[in-house]
Amino acid sequence: MSTPFGKFFLPGPTEVRPEILAAQAKPMMGHRSSKTEDLLGRMEAPLKAVFRTERPVMMAAASATGFMEAGIRNGVRQKVLCLVNGAFSQRFADIAKACGKETLVEKVPEGETFEAPRVRELLARHAPDAVTIVHSESATGALSPIAEISAAVHEAGDVMLIVDGVTSVAGSPVEVDQWRLDFLVTGSQKAMALPPGLAFGVASERMMARARTIPGRGIYFDLVPYDEQIRKRQTPYTPAVSLLYALAAQVELIATEGIENRWKRHDAMRSRVEQWVAQHAASLGIGMLPREGRRSWTVSCVKLPEGGQAGTAVSKAMSARGITIASGYGKNKETTFRIGHMGDHTVAELEVVLENLTEVLRG
Ligand SMILES: *Cc1c(COP(=O)(O)O)cnc(C)c1O
Repeated sequence: MSTPFGKFFLPGPTEVRPEILAAQAKPMMGHRSSKTEDLLGRMEAPLKAVFRTERPVMMAAASATGFMEAGIRNGVRQKVLCLVNGAFSQRFADIAKACGKETLVEKVPEGETFEAPRVRELLARHAPDAVTIVHSESATGALSPIAEISAAVHEAGDVMLIVDGVTSVAGSPVEVDQWRLDFLVTGSQKAMALPPGLAFGVASERMMARARTIPGRGIYFDLVPYDEQIRKRQTPYTPAVSLLYALAAQVELIATEGIENRWKRHDAMRSRVEQWVAQHAASLGIGMLPREGRRSWTVSCVKLPEGGQAGTAVSKAMSARGITIASGYGKNKETTFRIGHMGDHTVAELEVVLENLTEVLRG
């Protein structure tokens, strides 16, 4: 029934260790019971270490998009600037519009990133009260310079920075406190290597202060009760109890590895793909979509040669070999393929993926 670990390289959901899956198979507990409080209490410190924060880590039974919506509902007073460089950053703009916020969309070509000087210019031009950005744009494999962009946003004063860290948290450096991120979102099924179904969010003090003044926050994604309850080791609504068991087991494993070592392991995988692409660039006509220095540590997006195999054909051929990778996404669906090397994967397992890809691409 179970296939060996190390064959499933989607940019989400990612592969979950059998022992983490098994950790879920425990009896239910009442979410107002001391058992849940103990479990949430035990997780507090290791979770804060993952997010590099002293702030509470809020959790909801939702996919990451749920807390992206929470970021908009609680962090945008009126006018939000959405920095779009791919499908997931576009999602923030779609949510903001759907929540009735005045939404200014600025774009750079897919595979590229916004840089701090351009963000300064856009802030001066549009005077938004919040900015959204995706740290690691999983659709293109581009990694944005969030620390620098956050500094630019803070220079503008009372402007909230709402960050999607869905494929960066637990896979590459994310320093919530040091970088002064106002709201950071992730989901359980990416570099945390858990089953899907939990959204995580960390809000700055000024974000929570603003949230309390914004009308129309709704109910389920109103962050005020999440913030209040998690301080009491509770959740406002029924948590995904089974996922909490898995999370408790996983944060222990992450603490044992050490978050910085976990980042390094991902960096080694990023660098191995880079090296493989360079080695075969001439013979196979492949290249990385984002430029050097702006490549995600968790998702590599590789350009295919014109007139060659399509992205979906490559992922299909890999799947016939028992290995799951992803085609491109959106506009780049057929011109690229993506390897999600995150969570608990290692370079050794990635080698097998790259060997098979070399054969597939040789045709
Ligand atoms: C996967 C992903 C999301 C969406 O997460 P869901 O859990 O499906 O809501 C958002 N942003 C990025 C960058 C992602 O990779």
